[in-house]
Amino acid sequence: MTKFDIVVIGAGASGIGAGLAAAQNGAKVALLEKGAKFGGAGKFGAQGLFAAESTKQKAANVNYTVKDAYEEIINYTHHSSNARMTKAIVTKSASTIDWLKENGLDTELVTNTQEVHQNHPRTYHQFIDKFNGFDRVMNNFKKAGGVLLTETTVNKIIRENGRVTGVEVVQNNQTSILATKAVILADGGFVGNRQEIARSLAIDPDDLYSMGERKATGDGLRMLQEVGGINNYKRIFENHAATVFSASNPKWHNDTIFTLTCLPFLWIDKEGKRFTNEDLVYDFALWGDTVYANGGYYYFLLDQALVDYLKTASLNWTSSFERTFRLLDGQPMTHKVGPFAEIESDLQEAVQEKAAYKADTILELADKMNVDAKVLQQNVAHYNELVAKHDDTDFYKDSSFMSIPVVKAPFYAVRANSTTLGTVGGGLVNENFEALNASRKVIPGVYAVGNNASGMFDSSYPTIEGLSNAFAWNSGRIAGEKASEFVRE
Ligand SMILES: Cc1cc2nc3c(=O)[nH]c(=O)nc-3n(C[C@H](O)[C@H](O)[C@H](O)COP(=O)(O)OP(=O)(O)OC[C@H]3O[C@@H](n4cnc5c(N)ncnc54)[C@H](O)[C@@H]3O)c2cc1C
Repeated sequence: MTKFDIVVIGAGASGIGAGLAAAQNGAKVALLEKGAKFGGAGKFGAQGLFAAESTKQKAANVNYTVKDAYEEIINYTHHSSNARMTKAIVTKSASTIDWLKENGLDTELVTNTQEVHQNHPRTYHQFIDKFNGFDRVMNNFKKAGGVLLTETTVNKIIRENGRVTGVEVVQNNQTSILATKAVILADGGFVGNRQEIARSLAIDPDDLYSMGERKATGDGLRMLQEVGGINNYKRIFENHAATVFSASNPKWHNDTIFTLTCLPFLWIDKEGKRFTNEDLVYDFALWGDTVYANGGYYYFLLDQALVDYLKTASLNWTSSFERTFRLLDGQPMTHKVGPFAEIESDLQEAVQEKAAYKADTILELADKMNVDAKVLQQNVAHYNELVAKHDDTDFYKDSSFMSIPVVKAPFYAVRANSTTLGTVGGGLVNENFEALNASRKVIPGVYAVGNNASGMFDSSYPTIEGLSNAFAWNSGRIAGEKASEFVRE
């Protein structure tokens, strides 16, 4: 039987962080990955990670200290997060940027990627040459003696006399045992498991659009419970913006409609009411939170006057995703949207794809949206009054966006669904990412990291850029170091 000191389950951001740290600390490590490729959401999704007091921040005179970061996070969660863990993550964050560079995954400190964060000190370290960088990190893991096994699913932790002795793995439909003294659960949460989502979600699962790792099906959290751990402690969804959703074709995408979704037009919820200050569109976490909190989807409304205008002219508004994409392409910002010469046929396509409705009256539109007609009529009329005064006395949207009424038929309502990047939390752990039981006693040799671990976030994740991925890499790295000490004892 093959013997390892540590088995890491899941080769995404947190798993690679854990495996590399443990292997470089002298442990014999197996990194097991369910899929054919390693990386998880940490590779196909995330573009970078947060740090405080990094070498790059110091060189750029960015004045954002570990204390600043700690206080920002702990205040955001009203001190309901684990203070020792929060301190451990932010303290480790700077050296992790250097460590990743040493191991082949370099980053550059960039302007914050969201428009609304331009005045926040820069924290986002964007990957340079990400895909090759991940390969170089993996080569360094192997150079340190680590073994990567892909298409290998871990199903069970085996323990004897309260100690981990192995894991049961499935490869090519064959079940076998790998002997190990410690297990790090790094399989990315449960966003790929519809049943688990339904258990933890506050909205209809059909209204949730997931951009997360489909292979993250909650296996680690299940195994955690099987060894006496807690797996339902503060499970949160990484609410992130909203996505136009075609009921007939989930893969449907139209650039114009996507851009229109990223603007603060009039938004209407399931009750037929306006529900928020729409300029939250400029903060992806808050935009996601408000959609989630208001039932899971909304419609944004356009009238024919705006559609006609946008055929030939542009709005001096910024698409909320413009900075993200421009930054990745190294292009300057335009702070403009449109013109969209084909907007009418784009909207027609959205109607055909069942992502939007078109109607000649607000009453007819309400009927199609399945909301009370009178309520919608009142809300649209009231919004038009606020626009006439350029003053949103309801939710205080910036007056520069209070310029577009909804008056001229036909009218369009485009649906945007609550969107998540994944789940975080469930696993109760301490600041070393050791699993705890209900009495908060350590379960020896069992660790949970990344999206499996609770502790730093509360009901949603703070708006600091790159924090989610930084939590994954740093929690993995800390667990890898601690586990390698544990197996030496
Ligand atoms: C589209 C997108 C964009 C994002 N952008 C950012 C960003 O810019 N900044 C930021 O901070 N965060 C971002 N995130 C979030 C970030 O990617 C996550 O915080 C991070 O990847 C979580 O790391 P993880 O190791 O927990 O999970 P993952 O990186 O997803 O890794 C989990 C791995 O475990 C494997 N696995 C699952 N089950 C098993 C099993 N039973 N056995 C073996 N292997 C298994 C999976 O296949 C996967 O490879 C983004 C996420 C997405 C989806």
